[in-house]
Amino acid sequence: MEGKIIDGREISGLVKEEVKEGVDRLKAKGRTPGLAVILVGEDPASSAYVGSKERTTKALGMHSEVIRLSSGTSEADLLAEIDRLNRDAAIHGILVQLPLPEQIDEQRIIAAIHPDKDVDGFHPVNAGRLMAGMEGFVPCTPLGIMAMLERRGVDLNGKHAVVVGRSNIVGKPMAMLLLHANATVTICHSRTADLPSITRQADVLIAAVGREGMIGREHVKEDAVVIDVGINRGEDGKLHGDVDFDSVIPVASAITPVPGGVGPMTIAMLMSNTLKSAEKAFREGR
Ligand code: NDP
Repeated sequence: MEGKIIDGREISGLVKEEVKEGVDRLKAKGRTPGLAVILVGEDPASSAYVGSKERTTKALGMHSEVIRLSSGTSEADLLAEIDRLNRDAAIHGILVQLPLPEQIDEQRIIAAIHPDKDVDGFHPVNAGRLMAGMEGFVPCTPLGIMAMLERRGVDLNGKHAVVVGRSNIVGKPMAMLLLHANATVTICHSRTADLPSITRQADVLIAAVGREGMIGREHVKEDAVVIDVGINRGEDGKLHGDVDFDSVIPVASAITPVPGGVGPMTIAMLMSNTLKSAEKAFREGR
């Protein structure tokens, strides 16, 4: 069974080593990649995510700026902060930790980040570039899943990939990346009729729903590759995925655990996107 587990910690460690090497190369040319993270409010989960991004950024030798704003911050003040970072040559990536307090329009904030610094890949310009198959920033979670599949040697060519979930940050970009990799892609959501009959056709099944253990044995075809994006805090206080791991692992050919699967990949790809942004700025003399 153990050989079936796709170890996100191990793969993300390899990605981070490569990023570190890239950072060192760029620093030798006099340029340090910089990532700015803005946190509005004191939500403990968001605060923990921001802390871990800050630690990783520094550990890889990059410049890290964390801006902590009070929960009562106005949209105008946040926009002003983003404007400042857009013009700061030492910053190559800007990330606004979501969710934002209700007085702030999330879409307006995302659209205010310069697309060339949008290392989260949420800006409509980058979403459009992904759809058109153009160079741009790709959201970190689906990008991390592609990196996992690649390093595991999963050939997507002609395979049926089923994505459960259609959010802008996971489901939709995931489907687009799988399509670009020549998979035949089906996207499912809360209105999908007879979900198990569709997921059972999947050679590669991606669960990005946010409902603990909803993908069970009956949803999975023999030998499918199962990727669990879900992060759900269970009644036991621990983190659980969208996949009922114990019932699915006997049928799957490979599966990601929660925690230790997709989660660590997301942050590694954020680092990779920040390096990519700094390299591009350097090439373009910015
Ligand atoms: P959203 O809530 O934005 O989207 C959830 C999607 O699941 C929606 O498209 C929804 O359909 C669909 N859905 C809900 N219920 C069902 C159902 N019964 N059957 C089929 N589809 C259903 O979530 P996100 O995409 O932002 O995140 C999904 C999960 O991934 C969450 O647990 C989140 O915490 C986790 N996550 C993990 C990350 C990581 O780094 N590992 C990063 C980002 C997210 P509809 O559109 O019809 O409402």
